[in-house]
Amino acid sequence: MGSQTYDLVICLFRNDLRIDDNEILELANQSKHVLPLYCFDPRHFSKTKLFGFPLSNGHQWKFLVECLTDLRKQFQSLGSDLVIRQGKPEEVISNLLKTLNLGPDVAVMFDKEVLGEDAEMENALKKSCEVTVEGTWGKMLYHIDDLPFAPKEVPDIFKNFEKALTDTCKIRKCFERPKQMKPLPEGVDPGTFPKPESFGIHAPEQDSKSQLAFVGGEMVALDHLQKFLWGHKGDKASSDMSGTRLSPWLSHGCLSPRKVFWAVKTYEKEQKTNPSTEKMTHELMWRDFFQYMAMKHKEKLFAPEGIKGEQVTWKHNMDHFNAWKDGKTGVPYIDANMRELAATGFMSNKGRENVASFLTKDLLLDWRLGAEWFEANLIDHEVCNNYGNWMCVAGVGLDPELSHKYNVVKEGLLHDCNGDYVRLWVPELDGIKSSKVHKTWCLEATDLKASKVELGKTYPKPIATAAEWTD
Ligand SMILES: Cc1cc2nc3c(=O)[nH]c(=O)nc-3n(C[C@H](O)[C@H](O)[C@H](O)COP(=O)(O)OP(=O)(O)OC[C@H]3O[C@@H](n4cnc5c(N)ncnc54)[C@H](O)[C@@H]3O)c2cc1C
Repeated sequence: MGSQTYDLVICLFRNDLRIDDNEILELANQSKHVLPLYCFDPRHFSKTKLFGFPLSNGHQWKFLVECLTDLRKQFQSLGSDLVIRQGKPEEVISNLLKTLNLGPDVAVMFDKEVLGEDAEMENALKKSCEVTVEGTWGKMLYHIDDLPFAPKEVPDIFKNFEKALTDTCKIRKCFERPKQMKPLPEGVDPGTFPKPESFGIHAPEQDSKSQLAFVGGEMVALDHLQKFLWGHKGDKASSDMSGTRLSPWLSHGCLSPRKVFWAVKTYEKEQKTNPSTEKMTHELMWRDFFQYMAMKHKEKLFAPEGIKGEQVTWKHNMDHFNAWKDGKTGVPYIDANMRELAATGFMSNKGRENVASFLTKDLLLDWRLGAEWFEANLIDHEVCNNYGNWMCVAGVGLDPELSHKYNVVKEGLLHDCNGDYVRLWVPELDGIKSSKVHKTWCLEATDLKASKVELGKTYPKPIATAAEWTD
């Protein structure tokens, strides 16, 4: 992008809710005025496309508003403000331009999206505004211009993608945090946050069982990253292998993947490389993989046959789907994960792989039911990551790594060997005090009675079983 100066640059924020490492701020700050803008777009709060699940829920709303509150505070401390409006960005911006009565020397800048409604909006914006409209690429670890192949030639297998990039590609340095922002144009009302009720959303209660209370915003994200890496005694990264829990902040762009990468490199330089820090950069590569996959295959990411083009007769048994989404399948590890999702808006990666495999490979349900349910419930929902992962687990992607059928009982025993996690989220099984809680249907009648569990009454019998569960 050029370094042309403008009278005004409108910076449209969407999934890049940060000041640090944000190219649009660096570009915009060369102009006379900068107007940072966030629009509560009604399309984000309507329904999922195929199955009509309500978007967004209370957890997603809470996290988003926390991100925006933090961003606003930061802009205020830099001599500016975050302007809040309700409406489609293309309409809000047209109206703003009319009321501000500016000349042609205006630009609109945003960080680009690969796929989905946000990407479609960019075209609508270009059509509706007669000013310069420019986008940056800040959401990937590896910048698109540095790839060793054209986006349409991105390898479909993760291992090949990772090798090609690590062998030949460098990760760019972060953009610096601006010390001061150019002022808002005169007479612009910063606006207030809409009430969640105006979108039919109700604020959630914090669930005390949640491992981590996710609070949105760049400042909390930076703090979480530092604590994850350095811990209180400076050695946290070496002991904690269960995941960084950074995804909600990465998905909202409170952190750029580059910021995480360079923080890890600093840690490795001062301490040493260890499996946990290596895993962090490896996982960020998965994130890039799904972004570039989506860029290559576009709408195929939403097709029932996936990018593999495999025709599968997916079922739409809504009794089974409802049992899955409500955490009442009778398979404790699946139910615990689904209830954690409902109560907190989060689920671990292992949990996601297992519940997705159960939905598609045990219940044989349409994977898009699961993907849309995740879209409507995850606080870290990101369209390319979500649909890309679901497609792979369902077996209609091209990467073999995720596509095998999971033995969800064996996995439960592996990742929750004492059954504590299951008992936490499925309290009606609290009386079963050992790992046997993972196989309620194998318990003797006397054990069930002693544990005050009555299958089919206090807890469901499994809605599906698989031969491999008896291994
Ligand atoms: C069915 C399914 C749906 C998913 N939907 C989403 C989604 O909507 N949004 C989302 O961010 N992740 C999604 N993931 C990927 C992954 O489960 C989460 O990113 C991860 O659980 C977040 O936890 P963490 O931050 O502790 O991850 P860590 O293991 O600490 O990884 C660090 C970061 O790398 C990225 N990452 C890790 N694993 C993956 C992966 N498999 N694919 C893409 N990026 C990855 C995330 O940004 C994550 O925060 C999905 C996975 C599955 C199997």
